[in-house]
Amino acid sequence: MATPAHIGKFTANNPGIMTLQGTNQYIVGKESAVVIDVALSADSNMDGILEQAEAMGAKRIDKILLTHIHNDHTGGALALRKRCGAKLGIHRSRRGYLGGEDFQYDDNDRISFGGGELHVLHTPGHESGHCCFYESGDKVLFSGDNILGYGTAVIHPPDGNMTDYMTSLERLLGFDINVILPGHGPLIGKPEAKIREYIKHRLEREQQVLAALRAGRNTIGDITQMIYVDVSAALQRVAEFSVQAHLEKLMREGRVKRENGRYLLLSDK
Ligand SMILES: [Zn+2]
Repeated sequence: MATPAHIGKFTANNPGIMTLQGTNQYIVGKESAVVIDVALSADSNMDGILEQAEAMGAKRIDKILLTHIHNDHTGGALALRKRCGAKLGIHRSRRGYLGGEDFQYDDNDRISFGGGELHVLHTPGHESGHCCFYESGDKVLFSGDNILGYGTAVIHPPDGNMTDYMTSLERLLGFDINVILPGHGPLIGKPEAKIREYIKHRLEREQQVLAALRAGRNTIGDITQMIYVDVSAALQRVAEFSVQAHLEKLMREGRVKRENGRYLLLSDK
């Protein structure tokens, strides 16, 4: 599936285990454009974004939007702002985080670009101020790190929150989406199936955490070891964060309690 002509992408040269091929930086608009996420401040990265904008026929970049504050999405935002004079926006909860933002946005705000507008969806979970941007004209969702081209999003407590994340995924099901353009990895042509798969995956993990608790595992380390059998050393910490995030969700629901660093099952349903 092709993306609409007024949407371009330049992937930053920051590939890695968490960033996949690198961070996708999107350019959206005709005459005037907005840029979503700027990973790197290197000239080569900014050149790449500006050349892409030019190739799309955009004469200027008016605004820079950020899906969330992690460095692989914001590291070049101030540099691009300086270079092209665009106004930099950030979610209201992160006001002043970078120092030098020009405006804030919040859930359900509309942000215009040349030829349309983006609907701001505050979707906490991966990061508490995380936003997706939805373009209803072409039914495109810019999903940031909430949904990735492949693999799953990292939920890293305390700012990452599994309860919020599940709510955010459920909310996205309410939108008519043709294509998801993620913060990392390739575009997603079957959005609804992908979102449902993400929800199912988390619910399965939750069941595995419950099964581990029933089997008498009661620390994050032990539970992780039981569930993630083949995880590489590099991803071990990420797996532990995920288990912790699930345990915190279960505690919020009154199904698990923590005592002296151990997690105990309260009600088993
Ligand atoms: Zn990222």
